[in-house]
Amino acid sequence: MTIVLAWSVIGSSFTPVFDKERETFGSHIITRKSRSLACCARRKTVSCLSHSLHKASSAKVDWKNLGFGFMPTNCFVYATYQNGFWSELETSKETSIRIPIAATVLHYGQAAFEGLKAFACKDGSIRIFRPDKNAERLQLSASRIMMPLVPKEMFLDAVVRAVQENCEYVPPYGSGGSLYIRPFLFGSGARVGLGPSDEYTFIVFVVPVGDYYKGGLAPVTAIVTEDYDRAAPLGVGNVKVGGNYAADLLPYMKSKERGYPVNLYLDPVERKYIEEFGTSNFIAIGNKRTSFITPNSKSILKSITNQSLMQLAEEELGLQVEYRKVAIDEVSHFDEVAACGTAVVITPVGRIVYQDEVISIGNNPDQVGPVSKQLYELMRSIQFGQIPDKRHWMYKVV
Ligand SMILES: *Cc1c(COP(=O)(O)O)cnc(C)c1O
Repeated sequence: MTIVLAWSVIGSSFTPVFDKERETFGSHIITRKSRSLACCARRKTVSCLSHSLHKASSAKVDWKNLGFGFMPTNCFVYATYQNGFWSELETSKETSIRIPIAATVLHYGQAAFEGLKAFACKDGSIRIFRPDKNAERLQLSASRIMMPLVPKEMFLDAVVRAVQENCEYVPPYGSGGSLYIRPFLFGSGARVGLGPSDEYTFIVFVVPVGDYYKGGLAPVTAIVTEDYDRAAPLGVGNVKVGGNYAADLLPYMKSKERGYPVNLYLDPVERKYIEEFGTSNFIAIGNKRTSFITPNSKSILKSITNQSLMQLAEEELGLQVEYRKVAIDEVSHFDEVAACGTAVVITPVGRIVYQDEVISIGNNPDQVGPVSKQLYELMRSIQFGQIPDKRHWMYKVV
């Protein structure tokens, strides 16, 4: 409390100075201070490269057996929001934080997150896949649950800095792994009565992750969850807020126990149309492999992977993109079905269990469909810089 007061006194005494340097960004105001971080980040590039070469062996990571677990790295990047201002970005070597017992994130679920990846590319650079899209989506999530927007530039600076500070944790080119980046924003101010927090914390940490498909892409069997809904029609399904994942835990674990690694949700009104999998979007290839089909619904989280795949399907493979309502009854007619998201790009789905019936997809449900495979390979070769990045999706860090 004393710290908060001291801060606001200093803050207000500096207001005239800040005023001159203020600029609007989205609906929030930031000072020019945070802009200098971009320059910092650029200056750091050179030292980071040598740092990376020098320290490549000192990050004691077994690249061949890398999974998806948490591991400490050099540091995380953070900023705090108080009295209408974001602080400058800072780094911390800790792996835990202290927050008030009455923080709104703990009681009222004011929390949103993102997930994106940095890749060690063929040319020796390190690049992040479409971070601008994640910056925009975090703003959408933040505004839905009354949190301040993280300015896009600040988001990008934070993500770049988190990667640079931990560049020896980026799995080497050829290992198939990548550096998973987890930005998140939450209400860290104490409040007991319901209302938005007056303080927020934004954190970006990173963790190296392995190649999910070391043994090649393999289709899984999905199950349609019928005893639970993922999201209400006008609820928060379209934003990446923490509560959605708590709500999915029980149905997800129940499906897993029955032997199905992914669960598919239907629309909560008619239970007739496909929404999405618990943590990934639904895509299908149909019409004799001439169409890319994906559901359109207000309660789906718009996957950046899906949006990228839609574009590749249309522009590179000449498929017709059908972004529309997709009935569960249609799945038996599809040639290929897959789940898509940042973690694995594409998970082929060979069978779907629906009302105790097993629906086989395509003529060979045990094999990856050719279009899913092509899309997967296209994405991966863009991400690892093996083919030209025509759409400027890759954001160079080092
Ligand atoms: C994060 C997420 C996805 C995948 O989005 P990407 O941007 O492709 O990683 C899909 N569905 C849900 C519910 C998600 O939380």
